[in-house]
Amino acid sequence: MSLTFADASARVDAYISQFREGYFPPLLMLARLTEETGEIARVVAHMNGKTPKPGEDVGDLELELADLLFVMVCMANERGLSLERGFERMMHKVETRDATRWTRREEAGPATGDAGTTAPALDPANEAS
Ligand SMILES: [Mg+2]
Repeated sequence: MSLTFADASARVDAYISQFREGYFPPLLMLARLTEETGEIARVVAHMNGKTPKPGEDVGDLELELADLLFVMVCMANERGLSLERGFERMMHKVETRDATRWTRREEAGPATGDAGTTAPALDPANEAS
């Protein structure tokens, strides 16, 4: 599956446009964004030692991140902003301003902690869908 920011924006807009209520007002969307961020925090806490409440599962980080992305797309759409343009501007910033900020892997010596820990590589067989 290949999905661009423009695709996501159009799909969210098509969904929201079905309803008379339309996009939430900006401050309500900000509250939703904060709520979803908290839900991500809860899952991460569960994944790192916090015991879920009785009857509560660990949660689904992928889904919670997507919930946050949905709200972000709504905020961008409501304001007529382009997440694609914003993402490009952000990447240009980190790729220039922060170009020498971090230790490049080829320069790194032996690991000294978990600061360089990354998620396990994805199995390409599972990425095809
Ligand atoms: Mg959520």
